[in-house]
Amino acid sequence: MAKRAKRRESTLVVLERNGEDAEHRTAVAVQDRRLKFGDDWSYAPAPESNSYIKLQSRYSHFINGKFVTPHSGKYFDSINPATEEKLAEIADGNARDVDRAVQSARRAYQTTWGKMSGRERGKYLYRIARLIQEKSRELAIIESMDGGKPIKESRDIDLPLVAAHFFYYAGWADKLSYAFPGRTPQPLGVAGQIIPWNFPLLMAAWKLAPALACGNTCVLKPAETTSITALRLAEIFQEAELPDGVVNIVTGAGETGRAIVEHSSVNKIAFTGSTEVGKRILKALTGTKKKLTLELGGKAANIIFEDAPIDQAVEGIISGIYFNQGHVCCAGSRLFVQEGVFPQVIRKLRDRISSLRVGDPLDKNTDIGAINSRMQLDKICELVDSGVRQGAQLIQPTLRLPKKGYWYPPSFFTGVTASHRIAQEEIFGPVLSVMTFRTPDEAIERANNTPYGLSAGVWTDKGSKIFKIVNKLRAGVVWANTYNKFDPTSPFGGYKESGFGREGGAHGLLPYLSLT
Ligand code: NDP
Repeated sequence: MAKRAKRRESTLVVLERNGEDAEHRTAVAVQDRRLKFGDDWSYAPAPESNSYIKLQSRYSHFINGKFVTPHSGKYFDSINPATEEKLAEIADGNARDVDRAVQSARRAYQTTWGKMSGRERGKYLYRIARLIQEKSRELAIIESMDGGKPIKESRDIDLPLVAAHFFYYAGWADKLSYAFPGRTPQPLGVAGQIIPWNFPLLMAAWKLAPALACGNTCVLKPAETTSITALRLAEIFQEAELPDGVVNIVTGAGETGRAIVEHSSVNKIAFTGSTEVGKRILKALTGTKKKLTLELGGKAANIIFEDAPIDQAVEGIISGIYFNQGHVCCAGSRLFVQEGVFPQVIRKLRDRISSLRVGDPLDKNTDIGAINSRMQLDKICELVDSGVRQGAQLIQPTLRLPKKGYWYPPSFFTGVTASHRIAQEEIFGPVLSVMTFRTPDEAIERANNTPYGLSAGVWTDKGSKIFKIVNKLRAGVVWANTYNKFDPTSPFGGYKESGFGREGGAHGLLPYLSLT
């Protein structure tokens, strides 16, 4: 690997943002040791070839086992956020398309899937899991092209987890009665599932695998900007000879999702996305018999104690906030550092972000890919500007970002107070808010001072401290001396405005069953 070491001191100001000159921003005065990384810590390009990827020019809805044109005849463009080039056209679904999909799912539930033994359902899920493994390279490349995430993440994290979810829930399909001893589990019927753009295929797997294992049929709506891999998954369902209508995929915007939520023949809604839309869905379903799970936003506290292994903790901070460009609901976006190690952590963090490589998502050396959409980039910029206006200090490495596409450098703020918007609102980008604390009780109080309650992290040498702290953190998932680790056997979900219900593990079966 040819590493170019141009000798130019790394500075902490933004010189360019998206190809345009941006004003210089305040840097934290850190007078101690400075590492010299050269100007970009760059490696020779190592692009993953996408020359063999054959995307269709148009993707239609997947209903009753076939690709069907949308009722409106309308399509919208799906673009590559790293190049702004059009990848394909995607069907724009309306209430008529949703109705067709729901009817197809209802038929499949009544005639095949709902009657099938768990053992048989499991066979289909194993077959799907194996096909995903076989095609994982291709799927990873499409995921990176459509969503902007680095190939090393889609290849090594997303796709292995997608297959693992299908394998894991395949195993449960014929063992549901063991999961709930003394009870009789029954499927609910038709599940409407609405997913976001940050982990398109993984969120589809989180939703589809448990629903199908439990004997439900599904109508899935992917996010507008990232529908392609879900439709490629539909081709895998065809190859696996999944009975027609068991999974239906309707693409479109928020209105398409709303039509699924409001359809009278849907028995269950599973939603992952923003708290704002989650609240609207909760309101729409109040008074109906539909079951609901909501996996919403987060503003996780990552707490570093003085006795933590600092180098490992810094790596945990990095993966906690910069993984997937920070488009992660459980991102460790509020960092709490115990005062005694604050200068050391800041120095190491500053050095570490200077070494992160931002650029082509298909390059195997890329750490931070493209921001998913123009809209999301604007939202990140708006919140960062609010942080600067409210008096926090912004720290960013010197980077020359590609001229085309949507990019944001890895950034962090110091001098943040609890009332700043950057400490309260989900930025959903590669931007960290750093705060300090003195005592464990103060750390707990400040960590819990948020409307969200999805996840948290604790870094300390002392096991007893871990147990004390994790029991007092109001978060669905707490990682200790690690961060952003996912496993299909492990439940995931939130408290407060982060939603309710659990996905993953045996817990993840419950939202798709009624127990008598
Ligand atoms: P949304 O909540 O708007 O989108 C999530 C999914 O819901 C998408 O498929 C979306 O369709 C669909 N949707 C939108 N409106 C409705 C509706 N009224 N009824 C039913 N479904 C609907 O999130 P955004 O994509 O707009 O992202 C906005 C913010 O949400 C982000 O900045 C981030 O803070 C947060 N977010 C959190 C996620 C998480 O995992 N917790 C995931 C994604 C976003 P469409 O894509 O076509 O709009």
